[in-house]
Amino acid sequence: MAKKEQKQATALSALLQENRKFKPSVDFTKQANVRDSAIFETAAKDPESFWAGFAEKLQWDRKWDKVLDWQHPHAKWFVGGKLNACVNCVDRHVQNGMRNKAAIIWEGEPGEQRTLTYWDLYREVNKFGNALRSLGITKGDRVAIYMPMIPELVIAMLACARIGAIHSVVFGGFSAEALKDRINDAQAKLLITADGGFRRGQLIPLKHDADYALRETPCIENVVIVKRGDFPLRIKEGRDHWWHRLMQEAKSYCEPESMDAEDILYILYTSGTTGKPKGIVHTTGGYLTGTYATTNWVFDLKPSDVFWCTADIGWVTGHSYIVYGPLANGATQVMYEGAPDWPDRDRFWQLVEKYGVTIFYTAPTAIRAFMKWGHEWPSKYDLASLRLLGTVGEPINPEAWMWYHEHIGLGSCPIVDTWWQTETGMIMVTPLPGLTETTPGSATKPFPGVNADVVDEQGNSVPVGGGYLAIKSPWPAMLRGIYGDAERYVQQYWSKWDGVYFTSDGAKRDENGNIWVLGRVDDVLNIAGHRIGTMEVESALVDHECVAESAVVGVDDELKGQAITAFVTLKEGHDADKKLEDRLREHVAAKIGAVAKPKEIIFSANLPKTRSGKIMRRLLRDIAAGDVLGDTTTLADPDVVTKLKKHYEEQYGV
Ligand code: ATP
Ligand code: MG
Repeated sequence: MAKKEQKQATALSALLQENRKFKPSVDFTKQANVRDSAIFETAAKDPESFWAGFAEKLQWDRKWDKVLDWQHPHAKWFVGGKLNACVNCVDRHVQNGMRNKAAIIWEGEPGEQRTLTYWDLYREVNKFGNALRSLGITKGDRVAIYMPMIPELVIAMLACARIGAIHSVVFGGFSAEALKDRINDAQAKLLITADGGFRRGQLIPLKHDADYALRETPCIENVVIVKRGDFPLRIKEGRDHWWHRLMQEAKSYCEPESMDAEDILYILYTSGTTGKPKGIVHTTGGYLTGTYATTNWVFDLKPSDVFWCTADIGWVTGHSYIVYGPLANGATQVMYEGAPDWPDRDRFWQLVEKYGVTIFYTAPTAIRAFMKWGHEWPSKYDLASLRLLGTVGEPINPEAWMWYHEHIGLGSCPIVDTWWQTETGMIMVTPLPGLTETTPGSATKPFPGVNADVVDEQGNSVPVGGGYLAIKSPWPAMLRGIYGDAERYVQQYWSKWDGVYFTSDGAKRDENGNIWVLGRVDDVLNIAGHRIGTMEVESALVDHECVAESAVVGVDDELKGQAITAFVTLKEGHDADKKLEDRLREHVAAKIGAVAKPKEIIFSANLPKTRSGKIMRRLLRDIAAGDVLGDTTTLADPDVVTKLKKHYEEQYGV
C-alpha cells in the first residue's frame, strides 16, 4: 500500500488526448531509406552489431577490436579503432567521385551567396589545419571558436578535427563573460573569431566582445580573425592574426592525425535552460557513427537532397546535424547567417524556394514565431520542393505541429519530432519517416538500437502512463563526461538508478507505445496531488485559436499545494482582455480537465528564452513567486524578464 501511494504521488499525470494520426504516404515509404520495421527487433537483439554496421560505412585507419566496453557509467565504443572525423566528412567524398558536389550553399544575411563544393571544403580545411599547426596547435589542444554562421566556422571545426585539436564552439550570441568562462574552463590555447557577423541588419562586433574576454583568459596564446565586415579592429601584434593572411601562407595538404575512436572530438556547453551550463565531452568514433546513422535514417537523406538545419552551429544541433552527420553522409546543405525575420518575416521561405530545399529541420520556438506572424508569409512562396520536416529543442505543441504540417509541409511532408540532448550527441527518440505513424506532439519511438524508456521513480518501465525518460543502455554518441568534472558526470546522469542514464525530462507513454516528452522534471507542476508536465497545459493553451505560445509554472497555493500561473503570447491581431482570460481558462478545463485550469494568466508579447530559443520557466517561477531572479546569464534578452516582472507586480501586486 505504502509503495502504491508513493507511486501515485510521483507518477506524472497524462492529461492530453491527441488522436490525430499521420501515416507516411505510400510514395514516401517506397523511396525511404528505412522501409522494414523488423529493424527495431534486429537492433534490439544485438545493438552492438547494429551500430557496427554503420561504423563499417565510415573510413577507418584501423578497425576496432571490440565494439563496446561498458563499465558503467563509462563507455568506450569501437575500442582500438582509429579514424579521423575530418577525413570522413571531406576527403572520403573527394576520393569517391563527389569532389564537385556542393557541400555548403551559404547565404549571408545581407544576401551574398557562396557555394563550397567538397573539393573547396577539402582545400580550405587542409590549409587551415596547417595554419593552426603553424600557430603551435597540436593533438589534444583546446581551440575556442566564437564565430557567426559563415563557412569558416565549419572549416575551423573540421580543421581542428583534422589535426586532433579539441574544438569548443561558443555561440556567437553569447556575451564576453560567457566566452571568458568557457575559454577558461576548457583552458583553450587559441581562439578563432571574426570581426563580426550580421544579425538583423547589424554587424555584431564579435572581436570587440572577445577582446573583453581576452583580458582574463591567460591560457589563450593566439587569436585568428576572419574578416567578415569592414570596420577597424584593435589588433594585438604577435597574438592576433588575420585568417586570410594565414591562409595565403598555408600549404595545401595537411596530414590528418589518426585519432583513437575514444579521443575527444569536442567539448560543448549545454544551453543552460536549467542552470549553469555543463561542458559536455564527445569523442570521435562512436559520435561519428551515431550522427552518421541518424542523419541518414531520420532525415531519409539522399545524394540529391538539399538539407537545411536552421540551428546555429553554437548548439549541439548544429554540431551533429550541420557539421558531422550531414557531411559524413556527403550531403548538400543550405547554411544561413542571419535572422528569420530579416529583412522581412519571409526570409526562410524565400531561401527554401530559392535553393529548392527538400529537408527542413528547425525548432518549435521558430515554428511558434511563424505561427504568431501568420501563414501569409510562407504562402507567398513555392514550398513544393520540401519533402520532409523536422523539429528539435522543446516539446512541440500539437497545434504548432499542425500548423507546420499544413502551412510548411503543405499537408504532404512527414514530420520528424526528434528528442535528444547535448549529452546524447545524436537523435534518440524519433519517427523514422518512411515507417512511423506520427501523432502531433509525440516524438514516438526510440531510434533502433537505442534503449530509451519511460520509467517510474524506482526505475521500472511504465507500460502506459507518466514517468521519467531514461536510457537503459549505452549508445555510441553518448557523452563521455563533463569536462574537468568527473564527479558531476556521475552525480548528474547516473546516480538516480543503477546503470541507467537520467535525462532530467518527464515523459509519458500512450496506448500505442508512443513516447511524449512532457517537459523538464524540474518544471513539473504539483496541483492538488497531481503531478502535471508543463507541455500538456501549454499545449491546451496553444490549442486556442488566439494563442501562439505559452509557458506555465506552479506557484505555492494554500489549498492546492500549487496553482498554475500561465504566461501567454497571443497571435498577432488578437488583444488581451479579461474575457479572453476567462475563455482561455475554460478552454484548458475543457481540453484537459479542471485540475489544470490556470489561476493567473499573464499576457506577454515575449517569453524569457535561452539564447537557443528555449523557454526558461525557472525565471517565470521566480517572477510569479516574487523571488529574486536566478541565474540569467544564458538568457537571450534580459529585458523580457525585467518587463515581465514589473508587469506581473503591477497586476498581482506580489
Ligand atoms: P541545460 O541542460 O544546461 O539546462 P538544455 O537542456 O536546454 O540546457 P540542450 O541539450 O540543448 O540543453 O537541450 C536538451 C533538452 O531539450 C532536452 O533534455 C529536452 O528537455 C529538450 N528537447 C529537445 N528536443 C526535444 C523534443 N523533440 N521534444 C521535447 N523536448 C525536447
Ligand atoms: Mg539539459
